[in-house]
Amino acid sequence: MLIDLRSDTVTKPSPEMKQAMLNAELGDDVFGEDPTVKQLEEKIAAMFGMEAALFCPSGTMTNQIAIKAHTQPLDELICDKICHIYNYETGGWAFHSGISIRLTDGDRGRMNASQIEELILPDQDWLPNTRMVAIENTVNKGGGSIYSVAEMKTLSDFCRSKNLIYHLDGARIFNALSALNEKPEALHSMFDSISVCISKGLGAPAGSVLAGKKDFIKRSRKLRKVMGGGMRQSGILAAACIYALDYNVERLKDDHSKATELAETLNQLAWVNKVLPVETNIVIFEVADAAKVAEQLSKENIRIQPFSPTLLRMVTHLDFTDAMLQKAKEVLIKLKL
Ligand SMILES: *Cc1c(COP(=O)(O)O)cnc(C)c1O
Repeated sequence: MLIDLRSDTVTKPSPEMKQAMLNAELGDDVFGEDPTVKQLEEKIAAMFGMEAALFCPSGTMTNQIAIKAHTQPLDELICDKICHIYNYETGGWAFHSGISIRLTDGDRGRMNASQIEELILPDQDWLPNTRMVAIENTVNKGGGSIYSVAEMKTLSDFCRSKNLIYHLDGARIFNALSALNEKPEALHSMFDSISVCISKGLGAPAGSVLAGKKDFIKRSRKLRKVMGGGMRQSGILAAACIYALDYNVERLKDDHSKATELAETLNQLAWVNKVLPVETNIVIFEVADAAKVAEQLSKENIRIQPFSPTLLRMVTHLDFTDAMLQKAKEVLIKLKL
């Protein structure tokens, strides 16, 4: 039994999801003729109270398109120093959009209004134009930390008062909503744009959706094409995403309780220095030598992700079963370091 806790992207489509893909009605989506893609886009737009949405191959693309569509060169984006947009999208903000970035030092990736306010620049020839704020919910590198609905709303009001565009990198927004016992409706009219990944905890093989106003999505469609993301019969993927939204949202709570159990086990181990508080499906913990721990675990058929020389990450997901949880706990307890 191989236990893969490196990411919630490692899940494989279930037989039921594959059946939904086989049954999908298809067309050429570059011509705007794939009914299943349209259905997915309308579903996400309605859920999050947006006018329109756009299906893309990845969350990197939805974030990068959003930045490009909202900004022009000499603009600046404010985000947190540990966020995905800054760290893990290959510096795409500079490559695609020619903008600069200014970083907050938030609470496990969560920014507050006063931290943002300090970074807003005055209108001077020698300074970039502060244009946009992007938050991440949940925060991956923060150990799946969550912004509450009230915190997201406070930042929304703040951004509006400062005339700043407000984007949500919601790669794991359904994990956040599940942990908060909230529905996507809670986010209506807060954000200028929202990016949602269906290929993470929700278990689709690929696909993210960008939602926003009609004219923003129209510009985003053109940007998707120039970035090479115009797909043809992509309804076959959209069908998996629709299936995931219909069947895999409620069960996210299981992933969260398994992550909590893993953290409880880790907290009892002498070789673990620290475990970040677990709020959703991500467990980040600190050890003396992360590579060594990852290697020892891989010998026991458990794969986890070193995040730095001393940090490791485990992510629970729908292919991580109860039996795997028991086995993982046993191996962790027995590990000799
Ligand atoms: C995974 C992830 C993305 C998008 O990643 P892709 O692999 O390009 O789909 C964006 N933001 C966060 C916070 C993520 O965890």
